This record gives sequence, C-alpha cells and structure tokens, in this order.
Amino acid sequence: MPTTAHRVTTTPHVRGPGLLVPAALVVLLAIGVVTLGPSWFVADARRAVTAGVQALAAPWPGAVHRAQVEAVANVLLFVPVGALAALALRRSGPVLPMALGAGASVLVELAQTALPGRVPDLVDVATNTTGAVLGVVLATVCLAVRRRLRDRRPRRWVLSALVAAPLLVVGLAGCSSGGGVLTAEHGHVEEGEELSAFADVPAITRLDDALRRAVQDAAREAAADGVELHVSSGWRSAAYQQSLFDAAVERYGSPEAAREWVLGPEESSHVTGDAVDIGPTDAMSWLTQHGSDHGLCQTYANEMWHFELAVEPGGQCPAAATDPAAG
Ligand SMILES: [Zn+2]
Repeated sequence: MPTTAHRVTTTPHVRGPGLLVPAALVVLLAIGVVTLGPSWFVADARRAVTAGVQALAAPWPGAVHRAQVEAVANVLLFVPVGALAALALRRSGPVLPMALGAGASVLVELAQTALPGRVPDLVDVATNTTGAVLGVVLATVCLAVRRRLRDRRPRRWVLSALVAAPLLVVGLAGCSSGGGVLTAEHGHVEEGEELSAFADVPAITRLDDALRRAVQDAAREAAADGVELHVSSGWRSAAYQQSLFDAAVERYGSPEAAREWVLGPEESSHVTGDAVDIGPTDAMSWLTQHGSDHGLCQTYANEMWHFELAVEPGGQCPAAATDPAAG
C-alpha cells in the first residue's frame, strides 16, 4: 500500500509556488508605493519615470509624444502584473489573468479616490489594463514556447526575465533622468500663457462643473463689458501641484514660507478642480467687482488672481483669508 509514494509519483509536475510568490510581492509592493505612496514620493517617482521614458525614446524623436509618456509608464507598470497572473493561473487560459489585471488597475484608481489630492483617471485604468494584457500575452507566449521545447530548465529563467525586464526598464528609465515633464494633460499652462475659459484642455475641462460654468458665464459678461477674462491656471494634477510647491520651497526657503503662496497637492483647491487663477490684471479687477454675481470670490487677500465658488450667485463674498496658509 504505497499510498504516499503513489501520491508523490502522480503529481511530479505540480510544483510549489517557487519564485511566483516573492515576485508577486515585489511587484505589488512596487505598484502600491508608486500609485498610493506619499504624494511627494509619487509625484517625484512619476516625474522621474516619465522623464526616463522620454530619455529612452530620445533616439527616435517623434516616436513617443510628450503627452504619451505617462501613458507608456503606466503601461509598463502593469506588464509584470499580467505576466505574473498568467503564470500563476496558467491552467485557466489568458482571459482570467487579463480580467484580474483590469480589476487591479480599477482597484488602484478606487483606492486613489480615498486619498486626498489624488485624481482617479479612466485613462490610467485603460493604460494599466493594456500593460496587464501585454504581460499576459508575453507570459502566454513564453509558456507556449517552453511547452514546445519540453524543457523544464528555462522556467525559472523565463519567469525571472519576465518579471525583471519591465521592472528594469522602468527602473532604468527612472534613474536615467530627473528632469520634470509637465504637459497639458497635467493641467500645465505655459509660463506667460493664458487660456480661454472655453478651452478644451484638462486645465479647464477637469474643473468642477459648477465652477467652470460660473467662470464661463463671467467671461461672457466680462467680454460684453470689453474685458477679456482668461484663465492662467485651473485644474492641476497632483504631480503638477507638487512641482509648483517644490519650486516655491526652493524660492521661499522653507515649506512654511512656501505655503503662503502655494499649497501642496493634498491641500490645493486647484487639484480638486475647485479654483481658477484669472488674468490679465483688468480681468482680476473686473471679477473682484462682479464675481459674486456668479458665486465667484477671491479667497486669498495676497492672490488677487485666485477665485473659487464661495457664495450663492448674487450673494456677498466672505472676507478673504490673508494667504493660503492662513486659509
Ligand atoms: Zn490659485
């Protein structure tokens, strides 16, 4: 009755999790830190990665558009997720691992909604899912090749390569450059430029609906008074806000001094889409006089360009706080 021997001999090809578990932990930890870590770190990491992807694409100018750089980084981030899921679930076929990858990216975005200063983004879900699907495809192809070769040896090698390669690319990308990359996708407005209140760019379209309508109504009314009312800054991504804050810390010498002018991504109402900066100067004055008709009020005494919805239309604006830090 060699039952023990029998059990062992019938399942010689079923192996333990091997490298899968530590590899999965590393990947999940990396993604957790990159997506949900402290915002200063996330902003730095994202800037480094996007700059790195740009540097990698430098030999082929035009191959990767500036606006696509973050998308590429988001794709790469989830390749290991798809690859690991496909390897762990290799008997179930490619659909379930792909669904898990998509689910993981949705979970990450949902988790970000719980964090202050983070903006969940359907584009992120799409790019992350693309990465997961790519990973599943890669792993499935490798498994098929391995099955063809009927060689057990390359398994660990293939697995390690699958996990290491995308991480290596992202890591190298992060190390190879530190310059910031801010695009219109971040709500960035070029120095000295101003936007129409009706522009079809994230700085305007990602504003709170009520605020955007109020600013557009005000812009129409100002135009009728002969005043061109523009938006010099509207919605900003957390990364963009962080870079503004970092620059202010450098300029004013300390985070405390910087906060009198620029708040961090957790606090700024630009990141939540609840604030606009108005220009030029005559538009600021016009809006100070007429903004309350649309519920728009100057909220900081030291920033005559910064307006938020603060009262019912036609109401009386409350006294402005001295500065953002005091507010
Ligand atoms: Zn502002």
